[in-house]
Amino acid sequence: MYKHYYVNDDQTKNPGLHHEVHTEAHAIELKISNKSYVGYFNSEIDAVEKAKEIYEDADGCAVCCPDAHEG
Ligand SMILES: [Zn+2]
Repeated sequence: MYKHYYVNDDQTKNPGLHHEVHTEAHAIELKISNKSYVGYFNSEIDAVEKAKEIYEDADGCAVCCPDAHEG
């Protein structure tokens, strides 16, 4: 299922201190104000791959992108 993905510009807001990738819905739910648009992807793994072009340490959110969550 295609979704819009964002990467949090503030890496201090998660335990692993990564730039976390979220679905649009989860980014809104978390009220993330500083975020960069990653794109529209069919898979969170593809979204995180793209986000790594923005932030090398990008990682999937454990909640909304569990298949792309490395820790
Ligand atoms: Zn999330």
